[in-house]
Amino acid sequence: MKRNVGPDNRIPDRLGRLWELANDLSWTWNPAAPALFRAIDPPLWRRTRRNPVALLRAIGNTRWNELADDDGFLRRYDVACHARDRVSGGGESAAPTWFDRCYPEFAESPVAYFCAEFALHESIPIYSGGLGVLAGDHLKAASELGVPLVGVGLMYAHGYFDQTLGPDGWQEDADDPLDPDLTPLEQLQGADGVPWLASLQGGGRRIHIGAWKLRVGRVSLYLLDTDLEENDPADRGLSHQLYAGGADHRLRQEAILGVGGVRVLAALGIEPGAWHANEGHAAFMMVERVRRLVRDGQSFADAVSRIRASTVFTTHTPVSAGHDVFSHAQMREWIGETFWEEIAHRDELLGLGLHPDDEAQDRFHMTAAAIRLSRRVNGVSARHGRVSREIWRGLWGDRAAGEVPIRHVTNGVHLATWMSDDIAGLLDEWLPGEWRHGPGDEAVWRAVRDVPAEALWHVRRRLKLRLLDLMREEARRRWPDHWPESAHLAGAGTLMSPEPLTIGFARRFASYKRADLIFRDRDRLLALLSDPARPVQLIFAGKAHPRDDDGKRVLQRVYEHTRDPEFEGRVAFLENYGLHTAHGLVEGVDLWLNLPRVPLEASGTSGMKAALNGIPQLATADGWWEEGFEGDNGWIIPSAPAAASEEKVDAHDAEHLFRLLEEEVIPLYYDRPGGGSGDDAPAGWLAHARRAIEVAGARFTAGRMVRDYARDYYVPSLRGDA
Ligand SMILES: *Cc1c(COP(=O)(O)O)cnc(C)c1O
Repeated sequence: MKRNVGPDNRIPDRLGRLWELANDLSWTWNPAAPALFRAIDPPLWRRTRRNPVALLRAIGNTRWNELADDDGFLRRYDVACHARDRVSGGGESAAPTWFDRCYPEFAESPVAYFCAEFALHESIPIYSGGLGVLAGDHLKAASELGVPLVGVGLMYAHGYFDQTLGPDGWQEDADDPLDPDLTPLEQLQGADGVPWLASLQGGGRRIHIGAWKLRVGRVSLYLLDTDLEENDPADRGLSHQLYAGGADHRLRQEAILGVGGVRVLAALGIEPGAWHANEGHAAFMMVERVRRLVRDGQSFADAVSRIRASTVFTTHTPVSAGHDVFSHAQMREWIGETFWEEIAHRDELLGLGLHPDDEAQDRFHMTAAAIRLSRRVNGVSARHGRVSREIWRGLWGDRAAGEVPIRHVTNGVHLATWMSDDIAGLLDEWLPGEWRHGPGDEAVWRAVRDVPAEALWHVRRRLKLRLLDLMREEARRRWPDHWPESAHLAGAGTLMSPEPLTIGFARRFASYKRADLIFRDRDRLLALLSDPARPVQLIFAGKAHPRDDDGKRVLQRVYEHTRDPEFEGRVAFLENYGLHTAHGLVEGVDLWLNLPRVPLEASGTSGMKAALNGIPQLATADGWWEEGFEGDNGWIIPSAPAAASEEKVDAHDAEHLFRLLEEEVIPLYYDRPGGGSGDDAPAGWLAHARRAIEVAGARFTAGRMVRDYARDYYVPSLRGDA
């Protein structure tokens, strides 16, 4: 583990709070902070990937002296500091939060929130995709609402990978290492100044666990780290990379997260009153808590029922590869000493992870264990709730699905993170004053209908131009190294123009997400893209998991189409999908496309981000869209007959996709009063855009989601309701 060198003390006193601003991730949604950091040194801001800690460390004394004398800068600095106090609850403006007002009796009872990944900012690459973004947005919304949450995750010092495509479109993965000195991390110390706070026994060795603290407004996130000199070299890498290594590695990593997390919180003196496992990776958190109660003298059955009462579990996917299963032999080898060196209940503990439908009765199913040990279990959309009740009813002796006690909280996205400043500024003019912070009130959001079409169109065009700029910027940065060929440059979107209807498709390249569905009928697509009167262009982005060769092949096929000269540069692939490129896409395209094979997408959240920016979605009737589609905020592909083969389903969905594009989407986009010039606002299209904002703002924000969790899951757990 690298040691943190501490604050940068060359910053002039008058600007002394810059360090504090940079070291609290609430800067990412502070309306004044990003522009303030950028103004310090714009090229450096870009080069550091908009990382304020790295930026401040790199600024020289001359520049500091200039800034300390720059009245305009000082004014902006004061505004950003004031906003930080509001966002983080410091300073004199500390008003009671939503949670304080509703549940004052629990304001001091922390909820521990465990997740294997957190996406908070692009400069902290400890996430791979949707689960991490959801967890990051959860922390941000909890901070705003004052929900007393503490996050627990892992410190992936080697980061998630950086994606580039080779000349053949094959994904190349490089580490994206995280330097603690350039990240807003505070290193915590154990008793007597040792760098670990807890340890566990595994594989015959003691594994020490250190921790770093990240501040997210009012919320703290603790990241666990095994990369300590005190550890055996084979154990130091346990926390290096996200979702890397084989089954043993994964098991051990999940033990660090679950068991280590409980022990580190105890070492820090934090005593959560409720515990939330966001996905099954964290199920050992529950097992460890059972173990501790049994060790302290409770019966096994009592321990299980006590842990259940205070535990919440959210399952995130119906795809079976998303549910970890470990053999009992593996469990014995790697965590046996942890779990039963002090208690004699080996079979009972292993039994917590049995699945009645699994013929092999010697395997530990993480999701089954999490469900058994949680009084409150939920899926992440109404549809996913139904699907989960069906999938897991075996755990209740094949009870009718309707009777299975799994509910749902539909996901949401953090408004201040995902709505562009341009759209928010427009809404400031037309919505009631407190629209950003209110409880997602339908009446407040109805006022979006009053936003004039021309004003919205103006903002939408500006956002599209910015996306095209972003693509050129990325191309400029990469072409000297990777792109001797012109085709690669065209495929990066450099030939795209602002007039055509621009469709975005960005997500992980898993085969059920069907990035290649639209290429099933090349001629029909060609006719769509190259109609001179009504052109269309398509932008793809996304990573395949480093070991998912099927996903990489789908990506490669999509990439081949970007090089097809007949498509005239109207199909692009934007490399290295992450938070930054995601922002560009969910703000800048005209239409968001989402084509999961129903019912495999539990929720999906990128369409919500797009909707908040006035981008309607066209999607299959899956995940959040089944409940979010209102008839006039986008388009839906009706579900194929239930018994159809995969091939038939794909053909059915592709047919509807083309029909909707040809007959509804494209004509509406090009229906302009003045006969089609780009300056004329398409009224019908913008009605969809406004409804997209209205529906997403009222129902699909992380503020609404975290309020739901607090009211229906956390507070009942804190109260110990049966
Ligand atoms: C929002 C987001 C996701 C999740 O999007 P889905 O629609 O759930 O696929 C994945 N990656 C990034 C970078 C995101 O911003």
